[in-house]
Order: sequence, then C-alpha cells, then structure tokens
Amino acid sequence: MKNENCIFCKIVKGEIPAAKIWEDKNVMAFLDIKPATKHGGHVLVMPKKHFELITDVPDELLKEMSIITKKISKALLNYGQGLNIVQNNKRIAGQFVPHVHFHLIPRFENDEVTIEKWKANEYKQGEIEKVASKIKKLLTS
Ligand code: AMP
Ligand code: ZN
Repeated sequence: MKNENCIFCKIVKGEIPAAKIWEDKNVMAFLDIKPATKHGGHVLVMPKKHFELITDVPDELLKEMSIITKKISKALLNYGQGLNIVQNNKRIAGQFVPHVHFHLIPRFENDEVTIEKWKANEYKQGEIEKVASKIKKLLTS
C-alpha cells in the first residue's frame, strides 16, 4: 500500500480525525475506533512515519515507541485492571492496517477478550532443541 492511501498516515496528516492520547515529533497514540472491550481505552501507538512491519522501524524510533508505550501502559493499568500489548505483522497474523502499531488493550473482569487464550501445543521428543537451533541460525542470517 502506498503511504498516501494509508489510513494511519491520514491521521498523522490530520485528514482523518482521531482521539489522540499522545503526540510528539515522531510518535502518535490514539484510541482504536473499535475497542477490544466495551470499556474502551484501547490505544494504538505508532510512528508518524510510515513503516509496515516492526522489523522496518529504525532502532532509535522503536525505542521512542517503546518508551511512549510504557508511559501510556502506566495510565491504562490504572484505567483497567490489566493490560495486553499486541503487535500484528502481516495479514496472516491479523494486520489489517499496514502501518506498524502497538495495540494497548486494558483488561477487565469478564471482558470476553481471548487474545491470551491460544491453544497450548506440545513439542515432540527432541523437537524443541531443533526449533531453537533453527531460530538461532535465522538470527544471524
Ligand atoms: P491491525 O489489525 O493490527 O492492523 O489493527 C488495526 C486497528 O486499527 C483495528 O483494531 C481497527 O479498529 C483500527 N482502526 C482502523 N481505522 C481506524 C481509525 N480511523 N481510527 C482509529 N482506529 C482505527
Ligand atoms: Zn501509513
């Protein structure tokens, strides 16, 4: 997707309204229009510049995003009773807006959010070591 068609770039440019929580030179945070719970307060933290995936973001900018995420997390832990931070990369992982962002989702008793309840699988005998070795090789490639 080209930046000029990106909905989050349009928010940065002020072409689309957003309920902003934070804005500085490089980072913006605003409320997700379709919050994960009925209590709302679901915040999106993103760089103002368009990058698609977390791996595209320069380290210094990622640090800035992390610091703002921490700051807003502190507020959200007081807004709700718990907090999940989710970041989707690529459509298969649930990324619908291809402008990198963190979801900060305040949690409440019986809020019916299921993101943390994935099916827990098991490794076969010897498989966990093989997978670890494969990923370690990918770290250096
Ligand atoms: P993802 O699936 O990780 O790409 O998340 C995209 C999120 O952006 C969804 O939770 C949407 O509800 C949210 N969203 C889409 N358009 C807007 C908008 N104009 N303002 C605020 N949030 C939006
Ligand atoms: Zn964008």
